[in-house]
Amino acid sequence: MFQDKSNPSTSLEQLGEFQLIKHLTKNFKIHHTSTVKSVGDDAAVLDLSNGKTVITTDLLVEGVHFDLAYMPLKHLGYKAVMVNLSDVYSMNALAKQITVSIAVSNRFSLEALEELYSGIQLACEHHEVDLVGGDTTSSTKGLLISITALGQADEAKITYRSGAKPNDLLVVTGDVGASYMGLQVLEREKQVFLVNPQSQPDLTNYDYIIERQLKPEARKDIVELLEILEVKPTAMIDISDGLSSEILHLCEESEVGCNLFEEKIPLDPQMMQTCEEFEINSTTVALSGGEDYELLMTIDQKDYDKIKGNPNLTVIGYMSEPNEKAHLITRANQKIALTAQGWKAF
Ligand code: ADP
Ligand code: MG
Repeated sequence: MFQDKSNPSTSLEQLGEFQLIKHLTKNFKIHHTSTVKSVGDDAAVLDLSNGKTVITTDLLVEGVHFDLAYMPLKHLGYKAVMVNLSDVYSMNALAKQITVSIAVSNRFSLEALEELYSGIQLACEHHEVDLVGGDTTSSTKGLLISITALGQADEAKITYRSGAKPNDLLVVTGDVGASYMGLQVLEREKQVFLVNPQSQPDLTNYDYIIERQLKPEARKDIVELLEILEVKPTAMIDISDGLSSEILHLCEESEVGCNLFEEKIPLDPQMMQTCEEFEINSTTVALSGGEDYELLMTIDQKDYDKIKGNPNLTVIGYMSEPNEKAHLITRANQKIALTAQGWKAF
């Protein structure tokens, strides 16, 4: 889990910038006819004549968004792509192309960048996305990665944050809060490692939650599932900052209220067990943890029969009139105002 400092290392100065880019990108395959020209010229050429194009960018900074003490570079590359694809999927669009820009300090070797790009490549293969360009530069300190993703969808399919109506069902995919607990375990092991570098952490009891943190999977399958079920959500957003803050975004943009039922929030057993171990309330973690990269959507009640019983989709509440604001209904049937940080007792 911790980086092996004895790896062979080729300094980046030994290669020119163009050689480096060529080396890192040579094994990437092209999946889409809309990619007319990818890496290698002054600009990529795309044919975006089908439907509407969505575009999104994220910037990840070492020490702010990731810690290389426990984040292997391959996972980082994978996750950096997922973060962007998740934003494309939350528009109910399919991702087609990405650009990847990196700034690296001379502490990184060619082998380290190969690791990063192997994760990026795996993500591109799993999600059928073309790498079409980027930029490479040096930084005085640390690593920065900026990825831009382009996706396509028919105009009629695109889902905004703003379409939810009172009485729509609030639906979440997968489970929430596990990524945050994975991070807690990794932070704890890092502290142990700093004190005793010989320690070999046993993380078998935490495999799911650690994978959720290190290798999240953006929900392309849900965009495809919604198409098969013939359901178009009235609004959709991806869960990067925590369920609570995403619900508030939907409420604000759609001008509706919301009632969220604590007992309906889908939690993984390993996540719950780890919450007990850390003595943290699992609902608090689900509401404010973040980095789940699940999709949160609202669905018209008339579509309920189409989604009923689907293991990927859990109804966790319903939208209400705007003056009712956003609330959590607890297991004890208390009604508590939702805040961006989770919830606040009266
Ligand atoms: P310019 O000097 O015109 O910015 P570059 O040498 O930066 O050109 O880029 C050459 C080609 O390599 C372009 O197609 C660019 O998009 C691509 N590219 C540059 N850096 C990266 C990177 N980190 N990952 C993928 N493609 C890259
Ligand atoms: Mg450039």
